[in-house]
Amino acid sequence: MTDRRTFLKSAGLLTAAAALLSPSQIFARAKGVSKPSGKKELELEWCPFTAKMKHVFTISNNSRSTTPIVLTRITYDGYTGYGEAAMPPYLGETTNSAIDYLKKARPVLKKFKDPWMIGAIMAEMDAITTNNCAAKASIDIALHDLVGQMLGQPWWKIWGFDPKNCPYNSFTVGLASKEEVREKAKEAASEGHLIKVKLGRTEEQDKMMINTIREVTDTTICIDANQGWKDKFYALDMINWLATKNVNMIEQPMPKLMLEETGWLTERSPLPIMADEACQRLTDVRKLYGHYTGINIKLMKCTGLHEAREMVSLAQALGMKLMVGCMTETSVAIAAGAQIAPVCEWTDLDGNWLIANDVFHSSTVEDGRIVPSSKPGLGLEMNKGVDLKYVAEE
Ligand code: MG
Repeated sequence: MTDRRTFLKSAGLLTAAAALLSPSQIFARAKGVSKPSGKKELELEWCPFTAKMKHVFTISNNSRSTTPIVLTRITYDGYTGYGEAAMPPYLGETTNSAIDYLKKARPVLKKFKDPWMIGAIMAEMDAITTNNCAAKASIDIALHDLVGQMLGQPWWKIWGFDPKNCPYNSFTVGLASKEEVREKAKEAASEGHLIKVKLGRTEEQDKMMINTIREVTDTTICIDANQGWKDKFYALDMINWLATKNVNMIEQPMPKLMLEETGWLTERSPLPIMADEACQRLTDVRKLYGHYTGINIKLMKCTGLHEAREMVSLAQALGMKLMVGCMTETSVAIAAGAQIAPVCEWTDLDGNWLIANDVFHSSTVEDGRIVPSSKPGLGLEMNKGVDLKYVAEE
């Protein structure tokens, strides 16, 4: 009864308040927290950052030990939302190209009176240039963090997803010496992760990699061939062999332009075939339908969570499987990716574990599964001792 009275009293107060208050103020009051007050202008700033990788990372066509990142933040009315553009070299974006984009985006963002219309804002952000997807994502992620905080809820909750449905997360074991592969595979398996293996070199090297892992663990393996198999008959033979080794998924087996061949392979493959390099944005999903079993969504390629959410709906409507992946990223972008993890069959959100100098923390991994933060927005907390200098130059 007391609860009901309290509810009615709160509801009455809220109705009266609604006539006078903005949506952010109503939500803040509903949560019983005082609303931050500050300048009601969307201020975008950025901070170039170099992610230092714990180990040299090797995939079928390159190796590297650092990844350029541009961290962003958007402030509005006393709230601060954090974002990130992570730019592995093969995507064609650089720190300079991202900052050039952000300089153009800053005045466009300022034209909006508040951050609520993320869809409308991102449409304008997209119209500034054709590319710069990671830089666009850095704005989208900061906006989601900001608006989520104003709503007082994380995005997985706003979207109605159940975090208990998050699948086992995969941990990448890169190309390395036999001893290192054994060590990394044992470590990943002991923590309850699936193991993700990058293949796509010679048949002998690829099979040796799998056999080496199987010497130390039976944990399920996900394969990423990174477009490495150029012949569909060879690819099918490899997949049939892998299917006997407790592998449960093949990502991008063939070059992205070999769409018909990949469709042929998917039809015959005993394992699901997921599109990664072939799937960048919402418009790609329909083209891939019928050729791949599903899509790997990466925020740095699809301009962020707004479009990722649309890709989720379209893929679900088409009956395609879902996966969320990442680049080498800090916990900012990983926390954003974690918001859609509950609707994915595979999550590959290990980018923040691969770097030695992460700047924030948020989502965690428990018993091998991603646990998105329950805190509002992206639930980001800056790590102790981190001092980031965000700047804005027009
Ligand atoms: Mg991949």
